[in-house]
Amino acid sequence: MRLLLVEDDTELSRQMRLVLEDAGYSVDCSFDGEDALFLGENESYDVIILDLGLPIMDGLSVLKKWRDQKIAVPVLILTARDGWSDKVAGLDVGADDYVTKPFQVEEILARVRALIRRAAGQASPELCCGAVSLNTNTSRVAVNGMPIKLTAQEYKLLSYMMHHPEKVISRTELTEHIYDQDFDRDSNTIEVFVTRIRRKLNVNVIKTVRGLGYQLINE
Ligand code: CA
Repeated sequence: MRLLLVEDDTELSRQMRLVLEDAGYSVDCSFDGEDALFLGENESYDVIILDLGLPIMDGLSVLKKWRDQKIAVPVLILTARDGWSDKVAGLDVGADDYVTKPFQVEEILARVRALIRRAAGQASPELCCGAVSLNTNTSRVAVNGMPIKLTAQEYKLLSYMMHHPEKVISRTELTEHIYDQDFDRDSNTIEVFVTRIRRKLNVNVIKTVRGLGYQLINE
């Protein structure tokens, strides 16, 4: 899963990025409204975390422009402590949730998980496909209850697929949702990750759909 973090406080952004990456997300950071608007319009994100007070263009204007263009990505806004009117305005413009500053990062993580689940139509934090289970709260993967150790990139790929069962997912879509902007994509091809995941899981849940991509199947 790939997130866009829009926060102009560079120290707060740095800390949040570390925590989010630690939790298994690929993170792009943006520090002003204009840049954020561009990235939201041109890149594929699973959640956008959007501070409202931003240089060049404020967060509410950015959000409104995305929604006017039918960009439906879940957006979590960050608001000031006494900013109840910001919360109302943000939700009315199309935000999906909000967190009030100052916050505990655990709250951000929990809300991001919930937004990703909801967008994928998943109610439970435990995603299952046949013998394979993936717990989005703990980032644990198991086959028939036995824990499986995946690398961060392997987990990102499997997590994206487990959130979208039965859907045929192209390599391009997987690439867009598991790497951040700065990642060296050439040396880390999707095919290599899929092969490794299949070997580790040792059950046939990832099907290759010729010419189209991959599909998670429950056999
Ligand atoms: Ca700010």
